[in-house]
Amino acid sequence: MLTVSELSASYGAIRAVDKVSLQVPAGAFVAILGSNGAGKSTTLRSIVGLHRPIRGTVTLNGGDVSRLALHQIVRLGMGFVPEGRMVVAPLTVEENLRLSSHAGRGRHAEHLERVFQLFPRLKERRRQISGLMSGGEQQMLAIGRALMTGPEMLVLDEPSMGLAPSIVDLVFEAIVDLHKQGQSLLLVEQNASIALEVVEYAYFMKRGSIVLEGKPADLRNSPEVMEAYLG
Ligand code: ATP
Repeated sequence: MLTVSELSASYGAIRAVDKVSLQVPAGAFVAILGSNGAGKSTTLRSIVGLHRPIRGTVTLNGGDVSRLALHQIVRLGMGFVPEGRMVVAPLTVEENLRLSSHAGRGRHAEHLERVFQLFPRLKERRRQISGLMSGGEQQMLAIGRALMTGPEMLVLDEPSMGLAPSIVDLVFEAIVDLHKQGQSLLLVEQNASIALEVVEYAYFMKRGSIVLEGKPADLRNSPEVMEAYLG
């Protein structure tokens, strides 16, 4: 269970996130949606310890992680898939995965098996230099790398970014499979229509605040969502 309450974050004088509260119950699949610059990434980066919030609290399974660094939060069970994938380009697929498992809590072989089951393509390409792979394959690797730490809560920043629609579908099928396996997921997406097809609950952000929230069926019927995000 992830709980964010009254989180605010700034860049100098710019208030990028203002009193954001949200929850991801254990086993749930939740999204933060909104346009470019709405504050989604800053919210996510504040949750995982990559940006220091100015106010508010973040708890993971009841423990306060608000002032911890990313590596500490990872050890407590949060997996992070950054925007732009950030794979270590000169290393092979398997080396990237091994590197990440050191940040986690052991059980390397078990996690590797899970990653290769989810993405057979990564198993086929395990000795491939990751910087030479396609954007879709690198996105799979970025997700696989986060899974190597055995996260209870997996947070993903814009996994569809820069990918062809057919590849986005492939990546999202894998994310849905993870959810079916019981993985708790928090997804940040600009592509609201694809996110609303797969998540159970979504929050819409605008100018740093949450302006709407609900179940996809209800949100899709909202004129505001239709006009601003699905039109
Ligand atoms: P995107 O989809 O483009 O990542 P977003 O919804 O994730 O957008 P943020 O990246 O969180 O939005 O940005 C929120 C606000 O903070 C924007 O006004 C943006 O210009 C500003 N901002 C983001 N990063 C920085 C930074 N490093 N320095 C200064 N301002 C920033």
